[in-house]
Amino acid sequence: MSLFGTIPDQGAAPICSRKGCRAGAAWRLLWNNPRIHTPDRRKVWASCPDHVEWFEEYLRDRGLWKETRPLTDENSDENTGGSIGGMTGEAQ
Ligand SMILES: [Zn+2]
Repeated sequence: MSLFGTIPDQGAAPICSRKGCRAGAAWRLLWNNPRIHTPDRRKVWASCPDHVEWFEEYLRDRGLWKETRPLTDENSDENTGGSIGGMTGEAQ
């Protein structure tokens, strides 16, 4: 019954966080609001190539901006555990 509000696929391509924009994201903007977040906390906004500058300016303006990184960065950082045969449960 619920067409909306389903949890998106883990593998689904992220969409730009800009209001009204449905473009696929190519960038991640990492930010932190020291008034409500601990210093090592990172909030992440996804952005399409068209809006990455808008987001960065928005966050810099408010002193929240930390980093802008390519979306693909995440994979190279965290997927070092071998996608080939790594999750088939052969280690018994
Ligand atoms: Zn966008």
